[in-house]
Amino acid sequence: MAITITCEAMGYGNTHEVSGGSFAEILGDVQKHAIEEHGVPEKLAHLPEQIEIWEGAIRQSSRPSKARTPRPKE
Ligand SMILES: [Zn+2]
Repeated sequence: MAITITCEAMGYGNTHEVSGGSFAEILGDVQKHAIEEHGVPEKLAHLPEQIEIWEGAIRQSSRPSKARTPRPKE
């Protein structure tokens, strides 16, 4: 199943789309895209904190929209 994420969903102000066949693949593509197209420093792109942010955005995007409801309070 292909996953597609827009740069907008990742917090970048445009509507590029990055897609890949798997979670790992798209994460790698997002990393590369952010470095090449958005001038994200390579060091930053490999920080676990940054990867976590992208992973969260990808997870949100790969979900059907009806499942995109706010989490109940814990
Ligand atoms: Zn972009």
